[in-house]
Order: sequence, then structure tokens, then C-alpha cells
Amino acid sequence: MEETSNFIHDIIDEELSTGKVTKVHTRFPPEPNGYLHIGHCKALVIDFGTAQKYGGLCNLRMDDTNPAKEDTEYVDAIKEDIHWLGFDWGDRFYYGSDYFDKDYEFAVELIKKGLAYVCELTPDQMDEYRGDLQNPARSPWRDRPVEESLDLFERMKNGEFPEGKYTLRAKIDLSSGNFWMRDPVLYRIKYVEHHRQGTKWCIFPMYDFAHPIQDALEGITHSLCSLEYEIHRPLYNWVVENVSVPHTPRQIEFARLNITNTVLSKRFLRSMVESGRVDGWDDPRMPTLCGLRRRGYTGSSILDFCSRIGVAKSDSLVDIRLLESCIRDELNETAPRRVAVFNPIKVIIDNYPQDKTEEFELPNHPQHPEMGSRKVKFTREIYIDAEDFSEVPPPKFFRLKPEGEVRLMGAYIIKCGEVVKNDDGSIKEIHATADLETSNGNPCDGRKIKGTIHWLSASNSVPFDLALYDNLLTLENPSKLPEGKEFTDYLNPESKKIIKNAMLEACLSDAKPGEKFQFVRTGYFCRDTKNPNTFNSIVSLKESKNK
Ligand code: ATP
Ligand code: MG
Repeated sequence: MEETSNFIHDIIDEELSTGKVTKVHTRFPPEPNGYLHIGHCKALVIDFGTAQKYGGLCNLRMDDTNPAKEDTEYVDAIKEDIHWLGFDWGDRFYYGSDYFDKDYEFAVELIKKGLAYVCELTPDQMDEYRGDLQNPARSPWRDRPVEESLDLFERMKNGEFPEGKYTLRAKIDLSSGNFWMRDPVLYRIKYVEHHRQGTKWCIFPMYDFAHPIQDALEGITHSLCSLEYEIHRPLYNWVVENVSVPHTPRQIEFARLNITNTVLSKRFLRSMVESGRVDGWDDPRMPTLCGLRRRGYTGSSILDFCSRIGVAKSDSLVDIRLLESCIRDELNETAPRRVAVFNPIKVIIDNYPQDKTEEFELPNHPQHPEMGSRKVKFTREIYIDAEDFSEVPPPKFFRLKPEGEVRLMGAYIIKCGEVVKNDDGSIKEIHATADLETSNGNPCDGRKIKGTIHWLSASNSVPFDLALYDNLLTLENPSKLPEGKEFTDYLNPESKKIIKNAMLEACLSDAKPGEKFQFVRTGYFCRDTKNPNTFNSIVSLKESKNK
């Protein structure tokens, strides 16, 4: 990955130069309630990339403090995706829930210091008492004696009270302009089984309390997170200052990644999966890392994208076409060229002997001779794409048309003869004659022919399905969802089109799952990893104009 600088690195440079810090230790803290999406990738690059840049470390920590909706399936998938991008956490893999005992001890410490109390407001009352900018919040339980809070907190832990009966709250500032500082809840009662802790706990720490403690215990120096946590930072610092943790991490926020025509939220993506609107988390239309991988994106192209978008302090919307151009640029260099005829029409070359077969050599990559070449067969019967023939051609149509001539890529020039129709008026086959003298596979024969089209010998082609993908949503800016609307009102009905029985160069039967190619004149494709009879469209050759 290209080394770039950003405002976070500027801060760290400054701290290193003044000796405020002597090393860099970051963490990536995903909540294991879904698969990683490309937004997480931005955070990964910032967390792991910053550690790498300064020769430091980055921990992977599953943020599983909230007991609902977590699953080991997600934990495994998250690890796989991070490794796929080329990042590694070494032996520093943690769970937020591993610190539940510590969290509890620190909560007791706060109570003893007079900095936390057990409150009896119900959630509704809590809302009612939270005050506004002019009026402070209130809690009648704020001055509960320390001993009483200690006793109640212990009994909360022991499961003596129903959910919602008590909370533990920090005693900070009921009139703070920052509502997160108005005696925030640190612990609540929840009778939910935890995926790792089982039923050991029925009280769970809130993220704002647990996260700084986890960071501090792991010796994290820089806790890098997205912008929505900025308003929580005073609370983060308050926790670090007031409990006896061994380190003082610093939280720095960066802008979230938003991309046009898609939604980067696990909740939305999960609803797409659960409602069957997409075929799983790895549906090639999904902005998840597994979806992008199955679509044919490479880890390096996604890292390239992250370095091109940079790291900013204010939220912005990135055009999905930037992501597409990253994979296009990479595959333009690396993908071998092959021929695919999406919608085949049979062409019979009348003056070519029935029993003759020639082999023409086609380069695998015109700019990279080191990628070698392959032999393609030429026979009397070939396929061309229906798009490359027009019976009533519009002006400037230089492909095949009645009486017209066109060059077959790397082979002969042919002239269109009789067009034979089926009963329903569709084209059955086209007859043509080849100029066998001049061309013979050599495109430098001096004949000026404006159009060149791709083709496949009928004896050198195999049928495959092609899956053509487009944006998931028609709504360009996901942050501008009109009132009363839902994202599902904007699902793009054209996001997936299957072309049945396209004809592909026979050697593509040997393509490995996930192997990527340029289909000449059309786009980049990869063999699907789940349906071996399908190639997925990764990206078109050129940026589409109609967006
Ligand atoms: P989601 O809304 O998709 O559930 P999240 O923030 O709840 O996202 P987490 O698993 O908690 O998901 O995220 C792990 C890390 O990834 C956090 O530090 C978060 O800030 C970061 N992150 C999540 N989404 C984005 C995004 N779109 N852009 C940049 N960073 C992100
Ligand atoms: Mg989160």
C-alpha cells in the first residue's frame, strides 16, 4: 500500500517528537454482529496502516460487550476478511467480554470514589428527566450513600432484580452541554445469554464505559474511530482518568466512508440478507468484503481505493465509480484477455472449407508479452455477438451489416451475405465470405476496414451463464433518504441480470474459481466461486456514461 500522511499521522508525529508517546499501538474493534463492509475497510487501513507506518502494533478485538445478536460465524468471517486484505494482529486477538471482571471492579472503584451511583429511574423517566439545554438533568438517586450503591450494584450482579429496575450511572455533570456527560448509564441489567460468557452475567457495561477500559488495559495508545464517537470523547477521557487503568489511550476520530448507491450499515445489509433480497452476505452486489471478493475485487484494489479517498475529518460521499476505477486499473494490467460472445449469432463463412481448421495466435495481454499467448481455432462456423450485427444500421455503424465488411479480431475480414431468419423473424444464421487472401490472421494487411469485432469458432466455444451486476440502490446519496421512505424503496431492479448460454472461449472451462479475465471489448469477469457455470461481471471496460 502506498504510504500516505494524514491528520492522524500529523498528530502522532507531533506526539512522538515531544515525547508524549514513544510507540504506537492501535486496535480494530468490530462488533461481531455482521460481516465487514468496505466502510470497515477504511477503519482497518487506518488502524493497521497507522500501526505499520510507525512500526507499532494493532490488536483485533471483538466488541462483544452487548450480548445481543452475536455469532461465532461473524467472528470467523471478520478474521478471514482482515487476513484477505493482508493485515495481521499476530497473537493479539481479544474479546471485549474478556474484561467483564475488570469492568466490574472498575465500576466498584467509581462507586467507592463517589463517582457512580445506582439509579432507580425507569428508561421513560430517564428520558423525561434528562433536561434540555436550559435545564439540567435530574436524578433523585444521585446522592444515594456509597454503601447503599455498592450493595445494590452487587445485588444487580447477583440477579436479584428484574431488567430495567436499576442502572449504574456515572456521577459527572447533570448540566453539561454535552448530554453524554449528564450522568451516563454505565451498567444495565439484561437477562440475555452471552455467546462467550453464557449466563455468568446479567449486568452488562455500556460501550462508553467498556471501550476506554479495554483500550487502556491493552496499552492502546491511539483509539481511532469514526466521527460519531467524537461527542463521546469527553466521557472516554473521564473514564480513563477516573479508574485505575495502567495506560492513557487517546481517542481520535475520522470521517466515516459513505459510497453512492449503497448503504454501509450492517443493520441494513443484514436485513437485505434476512429478507432474501440478496443471496447472502457474499452476494456479489453487496458492499461487504466477502461480496466484493466474490464479485472479483482484489484486496489490493480495495486498499488502493482506501488510499485514494484519504482520511478526512468531515463526512463525505465517495462516488462508487472511484471504487470501480481502482479494480479496472488493476485488472487492465493483470487480467488475461479472453473472448466471450454474450448473445451469439451463428455466422457461416461460405467460402471456407467445411473440414478445415486453422489456429491463430492471440496475445493474452497486448501490452504484456510476458503473459504469453494462446491459439484460437478458426472454422467455417463462428459466433459473433448480436450487438455486432445490424440489419438496419444507424449512421456510423461500423460492425457487420448487410453488404458490409468487418474485421474479425486477429483473423479475416468477412463480408456479410444472406441473413437467414427463423419463422418468428429472429436471425437463424448469417452467411458471409471471408477475404482469405489478404488477412490470414494478420491485421496489418493494409486494408482499411473501420470495424473490428470479436468472434469465436463454434468448435472453440463453451456455454456459460454471465451474471451482470449493477448498483444495489437507485438512490445516489444514502444520507438523503426522503422522509417516509426506506432504502428498500430504492432497490435497483437491474442490479442483477443473468445472461444464459453465452459462448465463451473453450479454455475458460479450465478457469479456477475466482480467476479473473478481461472479456475483450466488454469488461472484466471472474469465475464465480459458488456456481462454476457462471462468470460474474466485475466492472465494465469503461466508466458507464449514463450514471
Ligand atoms: P455499522 O453501522 O455498519 O454496524 P459499526 O460502527 O456499528 O458499523 P463496528 O463493527 O462497530 O460497526 O465497527 C468497527 C469499526 O469500524 C469502528 O471503529 C467503526 O468506527 C468503523 N466503521 C464502521 N463503519 C465505518 C465506515 N462506514 N467508515 C469508516 N469506519 C467505519
Ligand atoms: Mg459499532
